[in-house]
Amino acid sequence: SWLRLPNPYDVPVEICAGPDVPVEPVAVDELLTVLETADTLNTLARAVPGLDPAPRVERVVCTPDFHKGAGIPIGTVLRTTGALIPQAVGNDVNCGIRVEATSLTVDRLRPKLDRLERRLRHLFFAGGRRIGLTARQRAGLLREGLPGLLADGVPAEPVGAWRQVGPDDLDDLDGRLHAAGFPVDSAEGFRDWIESGGGTSYDSIIGSVGGGNHFAEVQYVSAVHDGAAAYAWGLAPGQVVLMVHSGSLSLGHQANATGRDQARAVWPRAVPLPRNRILPIPLGEHTATARRRYLTAFGNAANFALGNRFFLSLMLRAGLADVTGELRSRLVYDAPHNLLWPEPDGTVLHRKGATPAAGAGGGGQRPIDLYGEPVIVPGSMGAPSYLLRGLGSARALTSACHGAGRSVPRGATARGGDAELDAFLREFRVVTPVDHRDPVVGARRDVIEAWRRDLKQEAPWAYKEIGPVVRSLRRAGVAEPVVELRPVLTVKG
Ligand code: 5GP
Ligand code: MN
Ligand code: MN
Repeated sequence: SWLRLPNPYDVPVEICAGPDVPVEPVAVDELLTVLETADTLNTLARAVPGLDPAPRVERVVCTPDFHKGAGIPIGTVLRTTGALIPQAVGNDVNCGIRVEATSLTVDRLRPKLDRLERRLRHLFFAGGRRIGLTARQRAGLLREGLPGLLADGVPAEPVGAWRQVGPDDLDDLDGRLHAAGFPVDSAEGFRDWIESGGGTSYDSIIGSVGGGNHFAEVQYVSAVHDGAAAYAWGLAPGQVVLMVHSGSLSLGHQANATGRDQARAVWPRAVPLPRNRILPIPLGEHTATARRRYLTAFGNAANFALGNRFFLSLMLRAGLADVTGELRSRLVYDAPHNLLWPEPDGTVLHRKGATPAAGAGGGGQRPIDLYGEPVIVPGSMGAPSYLLRGLGSARALTSACHGAGRSVPRGATARGGDAELDAFLREFRVVTPVDHRDPVVGARRDVIEAWRRDLKQEAPWAYKEIGPVVRSLRRAGVAEPVVELRPVLTVKG
């Protein structure tokens, strides 16, 4: 289940693959170009005396959904010493997936799906998304994540999604590894957003799903593979589950631009720029300011993404509560897949399109200590998704894939497949900004054609089969399946 990739740089590179999970040759070519960074770091170690530890690439791991990205493949985990690499994080800083377990069963929900669809269309796309935020809440979110957002509790007269915050949300802010926040000192770089609208104002960004493969989905537990872990996570057969995939929207792009600029600023003038255009920021006194600037913007964007996923979940809760009456919903996990983690010993773990998969242990009594870190692997809007428990594989750099991965490149699915799309639409519900059921919208041939083209990009047949991907994680000792989830309704940005 592991393919070792020989390379001229003597870096251990391993791809977690299964017998029936094809590895893309173009992604391997792209990866070989990324490995030139091993040379870049050696060059820096020679050119800048006194760097301690000396910059080097320690190890690279690719996940089973590994595929071509823009410069660095999606599904690449990169461990370095003595340098961090902003580009190895991915454009959408802290893109990730949040999963919640609700108090509903799918049988109770099924008869109400027409109403739910209308409700969610209103909440997400037709003026229903009124999320009021004060400047203090915005700054708190950017600096600390959810604990900062909720530092003063819930607004006294909550409106919209805010009404859905419950006591569990406040209890869940501690001790969930990556699920709550990444504290940083300042949010100065994002003053514009913090002050947008003056006092409390409805935010124009937060609560957006984002385009393409981002989604907010209502699912149910269709199979349980590990009863003990499922029970500990609060999951039972037939239970309705919420899954939200979204990132930091424009803030992540801004943080990445800061990373690029800072890396460029500390690049030694006497050394030619690397051929692959991947610029590291070496650790050390002389780059302290550059790193602080980048890591602050990065932390702000990462925290924003956590807030965005939180509000998107609250909006799903609001829709469900509107059509079913009382609803409780509780965080299972929020798993990031575009992040880096600088360690005190000078190593940096970068994950671009890969998700953490730590194992059980650590002595505590929380589900995560007892069963391992929840690993969230979505399939597609018409196929199952999985929750697994991490096994803490050192060989995998404690990382797993974050999805099935595309089988057809974006843009290549537009033609054909009309019969398949119709079959898909008869079986699954998709809520998008285009209300295809509205007679006026439905009569607009051009609008409906464009809508169908977009949907085909995200159709189940545009993604790999999830079964073999999950099997390869298990065979490689990376993660074990806990539950299988099936989609009931998908909101696509
Ligand atoms: P990313 O966009 O972060 O690279 O990948 C996210 C993963 O989510 C994809 O590889 C795909 O398997 C999965 N995915 C994309 N769209 C949907 C959707 O609408 N619903 C579900 N459940 N999964 C999806
Ligand atoms: Mn993503
Ligand atoms: Mn994203």
